[in-house]
Amino acid sequence: MADKIGVYFDESSLGGVLDIQKLCEGVQKKWSDLCPVVKIHPRLASDDGRAMIQKDIDAGLIEAVCICGTSPRVEWDFYKFGEGVLVERVNLREQCVLCYADPSGEKVQPGQTPELLHKMANDYVNMGVVKLQKANIPAGDSVEVVKRVLVIGGGWAGLTAAKNVASVGYDVTLVEKKDVLGGAAATMYKTIPLSYPYDAAHPTGVEKKIAEVTGNDKIEVLLSSEVVSIAGAPGNYEATVSVGGDERVIPCGSVVLATGWVPQDTAVLKPLGYGKLKNVVTSREFEAMAKAGAIVRKSDGAKPQKVMFLLGVGDKLIPQEAKEAEAKAAALAAAANKEVDDAPKTNFSKQDTCKHLYYSSELTSVTALKQANYVREFIPGGVAMVVYEHMMVPGINELYYKAAQNDPSVMMTKGVINDVRDGGDGDIVVVLEDTLLGSKIEVEVDMLVLPTALVPTTALDPILKLKYRQGPAMPDLELFSGYADSNYICFPYETRRTGIYAAGTVRQPMTLSTTETDAAGAALKAIQCLESANRGMAVHPRSGDLSYPRFNLVRCTQCKRCTEECPFGALDEDEKGNPMPNTSRCRRCGTCMGACPERVIFFDNYNVDQIGSAIKQVEVPDDMAVGGPRMLILACENDAYPALDMAALRGKKWSPYVRIVPVRCLGSVNTIWIADAMSKGTDGCLLLGCKYGEDYQCHFVKGSELCNRRMANIGETLGKLGIETERVQQMQVAIDEYDKVPGMIDEFVDAITKLGPNPFKGY
Ligand code: SF4
Ligand code: SF4
Repeated sequence: MADKIGVYFDESSLGGVLDIQKLCEGVQKKWSDLCPVVKIHPRLASDDGRAMIQKDIDAGLIEAVCICGTSPRVEWDFYKFGEGVLVERVNLREQCVLCYADPSGEKVQPGQTPELLHKMANDYVNMGVVKLQKANIPAGDSVEVVKRVLVIGGGWAGLTAAKNVASVGYDVTLVEKKDVLGGAAATMYKTIPLSYPYDAAHPTGVEKKIAEVTGNDKIEVLLSSEVVSIAGAPGNYEATVSVGGDERVIPCGSVVLATGWVPQDTAVLKPLGYGKLKNVVTSREFEAMAKAGAIVRKSDGAKPQKVMFLLGVGDKLIPQEAKEAEAKAAALAAAANKEVDDAPKTNFSKQDTCKHLYYSSELTSVTALKQANYVREFIPGGVAMVVYEHMMVPGINELYYKAAQNDPSVMMTKGVINDVRDGGDGDIVVVLEDTLLGSKIEVEVDMLVLPTALVPTTALDPILKLKYRQGPAMPDLELFSGYADSNYICFPYETRRTGIYAAGTVRQPMTLSTTETDAAGAALKAIQCLESANRGMAVHPRSGDLSYPRFNLVRCTQCKRCTEECPFGALDEDEKGNPMPNTSRCRRCGTCMGACPERVIFFDNYNVDQIGSAIKQVEVPDDMAVGGPRMLILACENDAYPALDMAALRGKKWSPYVRIVPVRCLGSVNTIWIADAMSKGTDGCLLLGCKYGEDYQCHFVKGSELCNRRMANIGETLGKLGIETERVQQMQVAIDEYDKVPGMIDEFVDAITKLGPNPFKGY
C-alpha cells in the first residue's frame, strides 16, 4: 500500500485547457495526508521533469508516483523509477481534454475550463490516487529454470528452431518420431526460392540443415522417439520421452512443437475425379514423381504433354460430406459462444474438412508455380496450365510469380472449376467458368494436379500428452482442422499453453520460406519464456509483468470457477478442489479474478478492492437533470483502450458523462464492480472489449466471451436491485475501429439518458 504519493501534472500535454491549479488544490484538500507532494511541471516528459520526481523519491518524500498528463501508452518507459516505485498514469490528455465535447456544442476556449470538464479530470485524478493507494509492489515469483528447450519434430521447422535456440547458447533436445531427420522437406524435389534473386526453384538444402543440427554440441537428437508425457510448467517441465522403447525423463524449460502435417484423406477429392480418373493426382504425388526423376501418367506410363494445376478446389465441388461436417462444426461454434463447456460433442472428425483448400493460398499458389516449372524441366515441349481463382503470392514471392509469367511453357488463367470428366485414353476434360478466355470453357489435359490439404498432426494425436488438469492436448481450432489455437493477429506462435510454442505447418499451412522465419520466432519465444520465468515475469502478452494471481484460500468455496475458466491451464486443483496456481503458466489476465464470486483472487497491483475503490471516486450527481448522467466504461487495455486513445488523437469526441476505467481483460471484470457502481446511482455501465466468437481477437482468448456469458449473472443482480438490465451492455471493438468507438459510446449514452436516472440515485 502506498502511503506517500506524489501527484505530478504535465502542463504541456493539457494544452492550457484544464485549470491545473484548481486540480492541484483539489488533491491537496482531499488527499492531504496521502499526497504530500503535488506539483505542476511545464514539460514533465523531460530530463528536468524526471529529475524533479526522482529527487522527491530520493528524499523519501514519496513512495509512489501519479503522473497526470498523457495516456499510459505514451512514454511508458520514461516514467519508470525502479521496481520499488509504483507508477500510475492518469490519462488526462487523450481521454479527458482531447475527447471532451461540451454538451452545449460550444468549443472549449483556452483558459476557460468548463465545470463538466474539470469534474471529469478531477474524477480521473482521484481514481489514479486511489489505485496507487490500494496497490502493492509486485515481487514476482521467480523460479530456477532449466535452460534447455525441447523441440518436438525433426522437419524443416524443428531443425530451424533447434539451430536458432542453440546458436544463442541454450541446450536443445530434439525428439523425432522417425528414424531420420528432414520431415516433409526431405521428400521434396525442390523448394520455391529461399534467396535472391527469387526467380527459380532449387533444392531445399535440408541435408545441410540436418548436418548443422547433428553436428552441434548443444543439440541432442533423439530419433525413433515419442513424447510420453509432459508435466510441470514453463521453466521446469519434465518431459518423458520414449527413445527406441526405453523411457527417459528430460528436464526442459520450454517446448517448441514442430510436428508438421499429414496429407488429408484423399476421399474428399473424389468430386474432382481423384480415385476415379487415374491421371488425377495430388501435388504431393506429383512432387514425389519429380523427386523420383520421372513425371509419368499412372494410366499408361507416358509423359503428360499438358498438365493442369489447380490452386483450390473451389466452392462448387466441396464434397457434400465436408459441407455437412462444416455445418455441424459451425453449429458447435455457435453453441460454444453461449456455453463453451456444455457444447454438444459429436463424432465430427477434423479430417473431414479441407477448408483451406476451398480457397487459393500462398502454399497452393507457389507450389503450383513450382510444379508447373517441373513440367518444362522433365517433359521437353510440355505445357503447364495453372488455373487460379486467386493467385496468392505475398511479399517477395511476387518475383517468382513474375518469372513464371515470363515462362512461355507456363500458361496461367483465372477460372473456377465446374466439372472434371473422363476424356478417354487416360485424358481428362476440365470444365472451367469465369475464365479470362470466356465464360465457360472445356480443356482437355493429360494430367490434372490437385492441391494437397495439410492436416496438422495435432488433429490426430495430443502429441504433448500434457499432465494438466485441462487435459493432455492443446486447445485447437475446431473450425480450422485442428490447428493450435492462438491469437493469429498478435501472437501467432503462442499456443494456449504458456511455454509451448508452435512452429511451421503444425500451426498453419506454410512454405519452407515462411517456416524458416516462423521457427526462428518460436525459438525466440521459447528463450524469452525461460528468461521471463527465471525473473518471475509474465512472458506475454503482459511481457515483464511481475504481478501474479494470489489466493486468499480461507474464503474459497472450491466452486472451481477459476480452474475451469482459466484459458491457459494455469490452475490445477488439490484433492479438495482448491486452486493450485502454476505461476509461470499464468498470463496475468485476471480471468480467474473476474470469475471468483468470493473475491479470493487478487494481484498486488490489480485487484477487486482497488478497481472497486477507484470506481467509487466517480462523483455521481444526485440530480441527473442538473449534473447530467454518469456512466462507466470498463475498457479492455488491449484493443478498446488504445482505440479510444487513437480516436481522441484524431480529433474524435465523445460524451463527457462517461468515465473510462482500463481493465486487463473483460474476463477480469468482477461483477461486484458493476453491482456496486449501479447501487451507488451510476446510470449505466458499458463493457468495451475485444471481438469474441469464431474470429476472436481477445488477447486472452476467452475473456470477452466469458464476460458476455457473465452478463446473465449481472442481469440477475440488476433484476434483484430493481434496475433495468439495459443499463449494462457489452460491446465489441477492434483496435482499428477507433473511428467507430466514439459513436458506440454516444449511442450507449443516448440510450441510457432516454431510460432516465438510475432509481438508486441519491441513496
Ligand atoms: S485466469 Fe489468467 S490470471 Fe488467472 S491463473 Fe489463469 S492465466 Fe493466470
Ligand atoms: S473461483 Fe474463487 S471460490 Fe471458486 S474455487 Fe476459485 S478461488 Fe475458490
